[in-house]
Amino acid sequence: MKILIYGEHRDGQIRKITLENITLARNLGAEFEVLFIGNAADDFKDQVAKYGAGKALFVRDEKLKTYSPDGYAKILMRVVKDRQPDVLLMGATATGKDLGPRVSALLNAPMATDCVQVEMENGQLKLVRPMYAGKVRANLEMNGQPKIVTVRPNVYQASEQPTAAQAEELSVEVPDFKAIVKEIVSGAKEKLDVTEADIIVSGGRGMKGPENWHLIEELADLLGAATGASRAAVDAGWRPHDEQVGQTGKTVSPTLYIAVGISGAIQHLAGMSSSKYIVAINKDPEAPIFKVADYGIVADLFEVVPRMIDELKKMKN
Ligand SMILES: Cc1cc2nc3c(=O)[nH]c(=O)nc-3n(C[C@H](O)[C@H](O)[C@H](O)COP(=O)(O)OP(=O)(O)OC[C@H]3O[C@@H](n4cnc5c(N)ncnc54)[C@H](O)[C@@H]3O)c2cc1C
Repeated sequence: MKILIYGEHRDGQIRKITLENITLARNLGAEFEVLFIGNAADDFKDQVAKYGAGKALFVRDEKLKTYSPDGYAKILMRVVKDRQPDVLLMGATATGKDLGPRVSALLNAPMATDCVQVEMENGQLKLVRPMYAGKVRANLEMNGQPKIVTVRPNVYQASEQPTAAQAEELSVEVPDFKAIVKEIVSGAKEKLDVTEADIIVSGGRGMKGPENWHLIEELADLLGAATGASRAAVDAGWRPHDEQVGQTGKTVSPTLYIAVGISGAIQHLAGMSSSKYIVAINKDPEAPIFKVADYGIVADLFEVVPRMIDELKKMKN
């Protein structure tokens, strides 16, 4: 089994999902290499070697400094045709969602998106992906080559297993681009993205208004967590859309998800039910969030959250 991992990077940093996919490929016992397209730093090869990727491939060109959906897809297609992997592994991230289907169409290759389980059984790839907003889990096998698989971030933990680093510069004809991304307007730089966070504290309509959000932020700060929100909170303009968790927001899989004043509508659960531990704080004992919660606190959040903050502060001092 030969795997090509698409190496995601942004602002000179390798994205966590790339290291998670390297760990996954390593644990599958596969032969694998990591491909970086664009503005990649030389030391990416050393960074991925720490996680067991002995080979980093680079496609660099002045034109590739700006992301182009069609241009990158064509380059990826050419590399895949050349390297002949059995599997192209990507993240179920904004980039993976943008690039994966394009490459799948160009290669007429099968694709499974947002997988939460990737295993090998008798040389066959066995995949599990949630469907219908997380109501069912589908077991998949694919025919054809290469199989394109995107993996949900945070499902597999990256772990180090150093090996010798090796780099190879690939010469690939760079096509003319039909579209380029001219600018990415991101939120506050220092903010931890919910898709990469290990702990998330999320607030919903029960927070009553943006003026109370300092409770979510304080709790998140003390736990080293990212802050999330339900769509109700985002639609009300209390929180930015990049914090929205759910069917029309982001899909997250942290170790700990704390839902504060969130009812647990199916569309919210679609984005967070694969979290390892879910803690719900809600004053309504019948709230559906309690059906998925590992720990439930039936209480007024305005009493419980300040107490949690106080206790955590005491523990820290
Ligand atoms: C097509 C579609 C897509 C959608 N996509 C998303 C999505 O991506 N993400 C998403 O979140 N939603 C999504 N929704 C909306 C979803 O259906 C719900 O309306 C939304 O999740 C509700 O948000 P909420 O839980 O914050 O609010 P509510 O459902 O109003 O729940 C508020 C909760 O707070 C509790 N509460 C109130 N006061 C307190 C207090 N003082 N202490 C403790 N608890 C308190 C209440 O008991 C209640 O359970 C989508 C809907 C549709 C139709």
